[in-house]
Amino acid sequence: MSKSVLITGSTSGIGLGIATIFAKNGYDIMFHGLEANGAEIASEIGKKYKVKTGYSNANLLDSAAIGQLVEDTVLQLGSIDVLINNAGIQYVSPIEDFPNEMYEKIIAINMNAVFYAGKAAWKHMKEQKFGRIINISSVHGIRASEFKSAYVTAKHGVVGMTKVIALEGAPYNITCNAICPGYVKTPLVENQIKDQAKAHKLSEDEVIEKIMLKKQAVKEFIPIDTIAEMALLLAAEHATTITGSTFTLDGGWSAQ
Ligand code: NAD
Repeated sequence: MSKSVLITGSTSGIGLGIATIFAKNGYDIMFHGLEANGAEIASEIGKKYKVKTGYSNANLLDSAAIGQLVEDTVLQLGSIDVLINNAGIQYVSPIEDFPNEMYEKIIAINMNAVFYAGKAAWKHMKEQKFGRIINISSVHGIRASEFKSAYVTAKHGVVGMTKVIALEGAPYNITCNAICPGYVKTPLVENQIKDQAKAHKLSEDEVIEKIMLKKQAVKEFIPIDTIAEMALLLAAEHATTITGSTFTLDGGWSAQ
C-alpha cells in the first residue's frame, strides 16, 4: 500500500516542491494551504502522478482546525505516515516597532502549529508503529539575524521540539528531524526582496547579492528540489535511525 503524507503549506513554494517530488515517488498527498487554487493544484498533481490527493485550507492559527486537518488526512487517504510541517510566514522589523500581533502570529503558525500537528498525528503513528515527522525550520533555527525576532525564536523552538519528539517517538518507529535551509526563492522571499530594494534604494539584483546571500558562502538560492530530496530520504522506511537531527542546507552559512 502506498504511504500518505500531509504537508502543511503545500500549495506554494517549498511545500509544493516537496509535494511534487513525493507524488512522483508514489506517495498519496494531503495538500494544505491558503492559496485560492489549492484544490486545483491537488487534483492536477493527483492526476499527473496517479496518486490519491486531498486538500484542506485549515487555518494554522486554530489548534482545533489543525487536529481536524490530521483527521481529514486519515479519512481521505487512509492513514498519516509522514507529516511535514512546512507552512510559515515572515515579518521583518526592529524589535521596538515589531507589532505584538505579528509576533504572536509567527509564533503560532511557525512553531505552535508544529506541536499541535505532531500531537494530533501521534496516536495514528504510534498505533501503526511508523511515523516520519519532518519540520522545515531554517538556518534561522540555528543562527540569528537582526530584525527577525519572532521568526528566529519560532525556528529555534522548532529545532528544540524536533529533538523532544525524536526521543518520545523512538520506541514506536516515529522519527523526527528538522531541515534548515538558507534562502530559497519562493513567494515568501520574493516579497522580502521587493521590500528590501525599496528600503535600501537598491536594485533587486543588488539586494540578492549584497543583503540576502551575504551570509551564504555559495551565492545561490537553495534549490527547492534539494530540500524535497532530503525530505524524501528522511521519510524512507529504512531511515529508522536518522532522528533528532537538523540538516542544514544553507550554502555554507552556518559553517562560519
Ligand atoms: P510560501 O509563502 O511560498 O508558502 C507558505 C505556505 O504556508 C503557503 O501555502 C501558505 O498558504 C501557508 N500558510 C501561511 N499561513 C498560514 C495559515 N495561517 N494557515 C494555513 N496555511 C498558512 O513560503 P516558503 O518560502 O515556501 O516557506 C515554507 C517554509 O520554509 C516556511 O516554514 C519558511 O519559514 C521555511 N523557509 C523558507 C526559506 C526561504 O528562503 N523561502 C528559508 C528557510 C526556511
